[in-house]
Amino acid sequence: MADLQNDALGIYISIPFCRSKCTYCNFASGVYPASEHAHYIDRLIEDMAATGEWAAQMGVELPRRVDSVYRGGGTPSLLAPELLARLFSALRARFDFDPDAEITVECAPGQIADETLGALAAAGVNRVSLGVQSFIDKEAQSSGRLHSRAIVLDDLRRLRAVGISNINLDLIAGLPGQTFASWQESLDVLKATGVPHASVYMLEVDEDSRLGREMLAGGARYHAELVPTDDAIAAMYTTAIETLGRPGRGRLGQYEISNFAVRGHESRHNLRYWQRRPYLGLGLDASSMLREALHAADLPAANKSAEGRPEPGYVLRFNTTDDLGAYLAGPQPVETAWLSPASQHEEAWFLGLRRNVGVHVAALRREFGRKMVAPAMEVVGRMVERGLLTSDGKTVRLTAQGQLLSNDVFQEFLGLPATSAGADHLQE
Ligand code: SF4
Repeated sequence: MADLQNDALGIYISIPFCRSKCTYCNFASGVYPASEHAHYIDRLIEDMAATGEWAAQMGVELPRRVDSVYRGGGTPSLLAPELLARLFSALRARFDFDPDAEITVECAPGQIADETLGALAAAGVNRVSLGVQSFIDKEAQSSGRLHSRAIVLDDLRRLRAVGISNINLDLIAGLPGQTFASWQESLDVLKATGVPHASVYMLEVDEDSRLGREMLAGGARYHAELVPTDDAIAAMYTTAIETLGRPGRGRLGQYEISNFAVRGHESRHNLRYWQRRPYLGLGLDASSMLREALHAADLPAANKSAEGRPEPGYVLRFNTTDDLGAYLAGPQPVETAWLSPASQHEEAWFLGLRRNVGVHVAALRREFGRKMVAPAMEVVGRMVERGLLTSDGKTVRLTAQGQLLSNDVFQEFLGLPATSAGADHLQE
């Protein structure tokens, strides 16, 4: 666990614009005219400027020092270079970036104009995540992607040519029409690219996506009938771990349920979520987590909210609206929740278990106390018996089977018997 009192901040910025909508996607993203982009960046910068005052009113720490920025969405690379530059200048004016801060931008293959590439490099972007999903052209295109394998490989060359070699490629297991042979081919091509990071997700079709609606109601437009079975998708995931997951010198290795990296290239920003370190989300449908300010009671602004603010040790989670029209109209109320130590303890289990290093029991006992951790250790015992967790008494990890059934395992850590800590406080 990081030194919480001197921790830096991670900033997530949501850019909800895409050139086309992927069939399986249900994110708060869509195809909007470029005229909306500038308006959106104005609103983002306005919100960013207001964060300090808001944090003081809520009595939470908003560190100035930043060690990771992640621009996701959406397809941030669709923004015009001057908008990208304007947003980065505003960020750097408001926060102090560590010299080696990790600055990631998500890009769609085939949608990075030369001027955009130049703007990214000039703004100090040092990591790019490409939504490849499949190296088989037919599979990528039938899920709504606009690229081919050749385009991805060319983008890799272009990114490296401007000095951005810290690159993540996303793949999805379970796309319509995918076979074991085609999946293996995608994994092999990914490996051959030599990128230092890969994310592999099992397709989860939301019933509100176009593909999800077709799976429920029938039809052939989005190839719902060609989606592999759950068992086949699970087997593809296992193949990914066999192909990409064996760490070794200079080789990709699995470090989290869905993530693989060459040692030293793990996503610093995403690690922050699993380590429960503070993050600020800006823009549409963005989530934040900030710790209660130290000595908050001494701060006049914090005193104002003290009546609604619970006892020490709580953290504030808040989410922005997912309605673009409302967001563009002006500042919106955020949905806030104060998380009790008991809730944080539960999160420590299901976020910590996502990582291959697992959960260190002594660290949790130090942070939350033996009494609070005891019921979780009973859950661990049951899950070990079922072959979903492994434990040597000091560290608890998911087994291979546990990684496949991780949501079932995490469920077991919810609603642990309450100890001395109070309930969460919800506010709007
Ligand atoms: S590019 Fe990403 S955010 Fe945009 S539609 Fe596709 S999956 Fe959704």
